[in-house]
Amino acid sequence: MISVAIDGPAGAGKSTISRIAADKLGFVYVDTGALYRAIGWYVRSLHRDPADAGQVGQSLNGLEIALRYTAAGQRVLVNGTDVSDAIRTPEVSMAASAVSAIPAVRDFLLELQRSMARKQNVIMDGRDIGTVVLPGATLKIFLTASPEDRARRRYEELRQKGQQVAYADVLADLKQRDYQDSHRAVAPLQPAADSVLVDTTGNTLEQSVELLVSTICKKLQIGERSVNEA
Ligand code: C5P
Repeated sequence: MISVAIDGPAGAGKSTISRIAADKLGFVYVDTGALYRAIGWYVRSLHRDPADAGQVGQSLNGLEIALRYTAAGQRVLVNGTDVSDAIRTPEVSMAASAVSAIPAVRDFLLELQRSMARKQNVIMDGRDIGTVVLPGATLKIFLTASPEDRARRRYEELRQKGQQVAYADVLADLKQRDYQDSHRAVAPLQPAADSVLVDTTGNTLEQSVELLVSTICKKLQIGERSVNEA
């Protein structure tokens, strides 16, 4: 099986770019951020503190998270309920970042992520895919962009969904998440030593997809959809 690990900070367009690139290449796209968001969402729904390791640990008992693939793309289920849309709010983003610093949460999700990559060719995106989840990935990419560029994209995305947010708040949230994600004790966000850097600052979505697809094809010496056709 071929696995492409894509890590990078919040808002670099990782999920959108990876999803389209996976489609072009005929790979399954696995968005691991959705798993941390699902736990953040669940802990909040129980009115527990996402930063409290004890409370979060207790919440994991009896929690079942599953990923399903439909025509609408990846769906994430919490104890059988589809929470794919509910996990996309700023509150759940912060809760996801908080729970993701707790070792029990990372352990809880590790095998689920690895099993996805055993079954099929994947493009898996997250923060620690190349360093922890799939250290033997066929190709590792660190996808990033400047904080201002990333905040602008996130801001436009949230506004399009009808959420009333201010750019300054989005930028501040993003910087705080960057700090939390790269300074936590377990699996901090950092490029794997053998990763390829892809910087999308100033690119349109199409340019970023093109850059990612051409990087993958060149490194893996494959053509678009050649894996499916083989
Ligand atoms: O990628 P996304 O913004 O959806 O991720 C939500 C949060 O989940 C991130 O801020 C990060 O803290 C956490 N995360 C992680 N490891 C991953 C994917 C996401 O810690 N592999």
